[in-house]
Amino acid sequence: MTQIETLTVPDVQIGDPALEDEPPQVAHIVAREDKATAGAIVTEAMVNGTAVTALCGFVWVPSRDPKDRPVCQACADALKAILEMRGSL
Ligand SMILES: [Zn+2]
Repeated sequence: MTQIETLTVPDVQIGDPALEDEPPQVAHIVAREDKATAGAIVTEAMVNGTAVTALCGFVWVPSRDPKDRPVCQACADALKAILEMRGSL
């Protein structure tokens, strides 16, 4: 698991129901891109009103603080799989 530091720290952001019928009750995990941190990606999306994609595939326009929500289990599983895959390289 020596590659963890190169991965996104799971900046957890809550989904906003703008693009989904059901309001998300969990905080999804957004992966970082080449140079932008996950937090920067989400902040930019909030400012611009653009959508982001979570590790689980959930797409939404972030607009609120996720701190009081539990982490999306699908995102957590995806992150775990990524960490395990990277760790085995
Ligand atoms: Zn998710």
